Amino acid sequence: MDDSSISLLHALPDAVYVIDPATSRIVDCNRAAHDDLGLERDDVLEHSVLSLQTAVHGMPAWSEIAEVIRQASPYRFIGSHRRADGSEMPVEVVTSVATVDGHERFISVARDIRRRPGVAEPDASSRDRWQILHDLADGVWDWYPAEERLVFSPRLHSLLGYGPEEMPEVIETWKDNVHPEDLPVVLTMLEDHLKGERHHFEAVYRLRNRNGHYLWVHDRGSVVEWDADGRPSRVTGLVHDETDAKTVESRLQREADHDALTGLLNRRRGMELLGGLFRRHLPDGEQTLAVIALDLDHFKRINDRYGHLVGDRVLQRLGAIIRSEVPMEAIAMRWGGEEFLIGLPITHDEQPFDLVSRLRDALVETVWDPPLANQKITASAGFAVREASEQTLTDLIASADRALYLAKREGRDRIAADQPHAASSRPLGDHTKQRATR
Ligand code: GH3
Ligand code: MG
Ligand code: MG
Repeated sequence: MDDSSISLLHALPDAVYVIDPATSRIVDCNRAAHDDLGLERDDVLEHSVLSLQTAVHGMPAWSEIAEVIRQASPYRFIGSHRRADGSEMPVEVVTSVATVDGHERFISVARDIRRRPGVAEPDASSRDRWQILHDLADGVWDWYPAEERLVFSPRLHSLLGYGPEEMPEVIETWKDNVHPEDLPVVLTMLEDHLKGERHHFEAVYRLRNRNGHYLWVHDRGSVVEWDADGRPSRVTGLVHDETDAKTVESRLQREADHDALTGLLNRRRGMELLGGLFRRHLPDGEQTLAVIALDLDHFKRINDRYGHLVGDRVLQRLGAIIRSEVPMEAIAMRWGGEEFLIGLPITHDEQPFDLVSRLRDALVETVWDPPLANQKITASAGFAVREASEQTLTDLIASADRALYLAKREGRDRIAADQPHAASSRPLGDHTKQRATR
């Protein structure tokens, strides 16, 4: 660096370090930096990030961090600097990537966070130290595994809706509030970090608040102290509330997976899920999978007579009927146009018939607004049951489709099964309570 930029650096109130990312060595620093550390400038240049930052252990960890910095520059990090007198100084470090004299350099600006107004003195108790990070995170936690003590910052209490004395300072308080679906993954992440297999602990998961609602949090933590045997004795982490972002994300995901008109799964997502259902339901004598294809009868006429928007209302209504009638374990999707596909786990062959009968009856019993009032709107269906494990899902769908075609040909408002030997259809509706054979 030239002289003028060096004098500018020296005038800055915040500590500035110039780091060689390849070696982690500090190649330059300003006056605020060596003053903060209680060292002479030349002594600082004997140091590297590894000897200065208490949170960075070893070159592999540094290489990982350097990569993150390159990708996320400027990169903000809360850490701790080791001072000449052995004390530690909590710092917020912002690092950006630069080229200095043709070399890649990291420029780190480190701010002693105790200097912030209202912040506790360095010898304050652990609880007061929360104040240090209070304005930097939605929550901070501090875990002392050997003492079985987990301390939550005041802001983490308030984020979760608890008063200061309401969260017992034990790990179970946290575990009990992590969403059960997320807990296994989160614990694995934490254990991997404690074993040294992960550089830090980082997870995005749902955390329950006092009302029983779940917040989405981004939690990052790291071992900051070890005992004489090298076991982690203190683990600290920051929690960020990402509920708002996650809510938008899940809404976008929902929109991407569902058909806007009917509210059912769209074909892409529906087929993904049906593929999973198909793999889980091998025909084993007890349970198997039926695939039902359902199509509105003479729907083109409705569009032609009353217009597309009226047609859309019929599709919407059928979508609502399917959503309310189809059992939880089934997958129903809008296959395209006015055709729907349902994957139904069954234990006996009458189940597809029963389901389609309910759908059809609800459709026929719909009280339509004008101009559809008094219209009888019906649908036809075809289904196929998975009989052999060598049958593919495509075979099964083609088979249901053939049966649908048969139901249409034999007069509509009917259901048909596709069977190699005895393809047959039967009418839907109240007049056919007695069961035909498939
Ligand atoms: P069939 O009983 O043989 O099934 O006769 P159909 O008239 O129902 O069958 P066809 O395949 O000839 O016509 C389907 C119609 O569905 C044609 C198309 O305009 C209409 N359609 C497809 N998607 C939509 C949609 O999103 N909204 C509306 N209103 N109509 C749609
Ligand atoms: Mg049709
Ligand atoms: Mg059709």
